[in-house]
Amino acid sequence: MIYLDYQATTPVAPQVAEAMQPWIEDKFANPHSPSRWGHESAAAIEVARKQVEKALGLKGGSVAFTGSATEALNWALKGTVEKAPKGRNRIVTLATEHAAVLDTCEWLAAQGVDLTVLPVGANGRLDLDLFARELDDRVLVVAVMMVNNEIGVTQPISEIARMAHEAGALMLCDAVQAFGRMEVSNEPDLVAISAHKIHGPKGVGALWMRKGQEPAPFIHGGGQEQGLRSGTLSPALCVGFGAAARLADERCTRDYDHVQKLWKAAVHALGPGWTINGCTECRYHGNLNIRRDGVDAARLLADLRDIAFSLGSACASGSGRPSHVLRALGLDYREARSSIRLGFGRYTTQQELVDACHRLARAAREQEKLDA
Ligand code: PLP
Repeated sequence: MIYLDYQATTPVAPQVAEAMQPWIEDKFANPHSPSRWGHESAAAIEVARKQVEKALGLKGGSVAFTGSATEALNWALKGTVEKAPKGRNRIVTLATEHAAVLDTCEWLAAQGVDLTVLPVGANGRLDLDLFARELDDRVLVVAVMMVNNEIGVTQPISEIARMAHEAGALMLCDAVQAFGRMEVSNEPDLVAISAHKIHGPKGVGALWMRKGQEPAPFIHGGGQEQGLRSGTLSPALCVGFGAAARLADERCTRDYDHVQKLWKAAVHALGPGWTINGCTECRYHGNLNIRRDGVDAARLLADLRDIAFSLGSACASGSGRPSHVLRALGLDYREARSSIRLGFGRYTTQQELVDACHRLARAAREQEKLDA
């Protein structure tokens, strides 16, 4: 199989699997128990926390582990609304956010929060003038992701956060697709990340919180994570997250250069006839979301079963609904149905990517011939 679905998840790094091993087998003590073994587990979690914080590189706050970035985003939004100062009852977000943000905002809107979902341009970027016009003293939190998971387009997070702060609002950044790949802006107050997008294990995420801006607890119970997020932490998952973060930090430049080379090779190998969805410059280059007139992307997927890639037209849940992100760019149903997402990174070789792109281009041309 040629794996080109790095935005869905990334292969676990061998160093991560190795670091986790003892914590899956022998070292099973509850990190919150007072025994010597419990203390050892707790210490391993603290080392992992420091590794994640160092890789994230943000000043003035700390990380709490969660079960996923979805949980971190739910917590950030719901817990911030719970602590809202009087008169601030508005959330501003973008039409291209992940479902973990959009669905949580919709849920909060049903509870009485005033929700504004801003459109993006055809290139996937937020118009800052439009954003400025939307800001007022009722805005509690602005939620914008750094790198879009479907189209790879980046948003000017520092600028957005500064503008939100000027209006007295907080800024929540979904940095799931950015963390470990590019520098995360230090301006937001709350930042959500996930281990499995940086070659770590699934089932662990984190919320970075600026000191003083911690959301109200969302999961209640044993008072773990400074009383903010109850539930027994998994030393294996936290250690795996820490090891993945450390590796991403160490390899940052190498991984970045590799991705830049892969992008160029893929675009060249695909040849003419493809259009890139979203801004070509303001993006993470490990995400190539493309479309081709007249191509049925679902048929491409069926024809090329040994290449793992994503349909641009299907939302993350695989429901087959047209992607809300592609619709937000102004693509019609036909264009969305002819879109695919290729995601590549650290362990993708140039040769396998080029082979996959040649085969994709050939299969697309064959569809055109058959349909002619
Ligand atoms: N935000 C973005 C941008 C994502 O790509 C994802 C995962 O697909 C999430 C949030 C949710 O992350 P998790 O799988 O840790 O819940």
